[in-house]
Amino acid sequence: MDNMSLPRPGCCKWAEGDAGNYTFPCSNRVEAGVSYCDEHSAIVYIPPEERRRSRSGSVPMTFRRAA
Ligand SMILES: [Zn+2]
Repeated sequence: MDNMSLPRPGCCKWAEGDAGNYTFPCSNRVEAGVSYCDEHSAIVYIPPEERRRSRSGSVPMTFRRAA
């Protein structure tokens, strides 16, 4: 079965996996023109501010001010 390798029309297009090897494990129904279910759209459409904050966990040392 190769059904998992393509997004299904009318279903959430949430993808998991590495580049070129995606699966679409979410089968929640979505309305026409909508890509993701509520649950996943909340993850996908993270405000830029949130995204920046989540990336700051690995801020390189060069960001530290030289005193
Ligand atoms: Zn989903």
